[in-house]
Amino acid sequence: MADFDIAAIFAHPDDAELLVGGSLALEASRGRRIAMVDLTRGESGTRGTPETRAAEAAEAARILGVAHRESVGLPDGCLAVTAEHKDPLVEALRRLRPAVVLLQHWEQRHPDHVAASRLVYDASFLAGLRNYRPDLGAAFRPRKLLYVPSTTEAAEVHPTFVVDVTSVWETKVKAIAAFASQFARTAGETVAVPLDLFRPSMEVAARRYGQRIGVEFGEGFVTREPLTVSDLASLRGSSF
Ligand SMILES: [Zn+2]
Repeated sequence: MADFDIAAIFAHPDDAELLVGGSLALEASRGRRIAMVDLTRGESGTRGTPETRAAEAAEAARILGVAHRESVGLPDGCLAVTAEHKDPLVEALRRLRPAVVLLQHWEQRHPDHVAASRLVYDASFLAGLRNYRPDLGAAFRPRKLLYVPSTTEAAEVHPTFVVDVTSVWETKVKAIAAFASQFARTAGETVAVPLDLFRPSMEVAARRYGQRIGVEFGEGFVTREPLTVSDLASLRGSSF
């Protein structure tokens, strides 16, 4: 089960689908080995039982073509940047050995997302230290961290690059819809359900990113370091 190409490590089940579902579906269709790691089980949500949420998360991963998904089982609603919360992640990183890690951007409104961003960064660094908790596995450090802005921050955060996900847009929408217990309107319910709120903001963000590169739907990423380019003439996209 070792040596994944990509690991998507996000705070709550359905965060990855909403933010990078298209990119994961694209990479999976290329035969890349992808792991999804949820930091929590989303148990603070008022909808669904832990069992239905776990089944929905597995189904969403299947729709995206992702072979492996697991939850670290940290407490939803109170993620904290502590050794207690980093160490299970250090263990997972050393076991899965992903070359590239997708994680939440550091500027976020939800406190769990802020903590998740820092936890994944810190754990990725610590996992590479030979003398840090050798009982958690052999030292390993991911090569590249790709930060993903939330849909609400999409207007403010300038992406380093955008992935064209137009061809897999319906797959992404289907994967999100797999979280039926989170999104279904139950009898007698009058308040806006999460899908009513998420779907338009997700779609606006994807159209905004897509527009930046001249396609219908895109997913934006940020890297702290500049991208390395070895061939200027092969750069894709247009400035006009
Ligand atoms: Zn979340």
